Amino acid sequence: MKQNLKITGIMFYYYFICKRKLWYFRNEIQMESNSEAVEIGKLIDEKSYKRDRKHIMINETINIDFMRNRKVIHEIKKSDSMEEASIWQVKYYIYYLKKHGVEDIKAILDYPKLKKRVDVELNKDDEEEIEKILLEIEKIVRDQKMPSIIDSKICKKCSYYELCYI
Ligand code: SF4
Repeated sequence: MKQNLKITGIMFYYYFICKRKLWYFRNEIQMESNSEAVEIGKLIDEKSYKRDRKHIMINETINIDFMRNRKVIHEIKKSDSMEEASIWQVKYYIYYLKKHGVEDIKAILDYPKLKKRVDVELNKDDEEEIEKILLEIEKIVRDQKMPSIIDSKICKKCSYYELCYI
């Protein structure tokens, strides 16, 4: 099956966080959140990296937090609790750019509050994995039936909590 749905970086991230959240998001059920986490995220974003060009949206698909030189993209996170999802999100950015002719890109996950950085690169196996995941994402979001709730500690902070549990 050929993947032909536009799959954004945030959808790719949600695939790793919760497939139901991905389904809600793609099916245009979007909840406003005024949680403290969102506010902290905005503050980090505004106060950090003032020198850099920020929020580079490409084809309305991937939204790069900033680039410090032409070959390194940066993704800013406030916590490393979802690190696997964050790593795959930026691998997807590198993959997407490569598919559009921009080669040899690397990425860095920045955690300003933790004073931590993680280097991320894309290898051949990752590319194959991403292609499988893209097909899976398309299947999930096109399905009439939403995925099951995950009953995880992350649910309490999720903007869809009320829809899932109340
Ligand atoms: S509340 Fe939990 S199960 Fe529901 S969408 Fe959010 S993370 Fe997924």
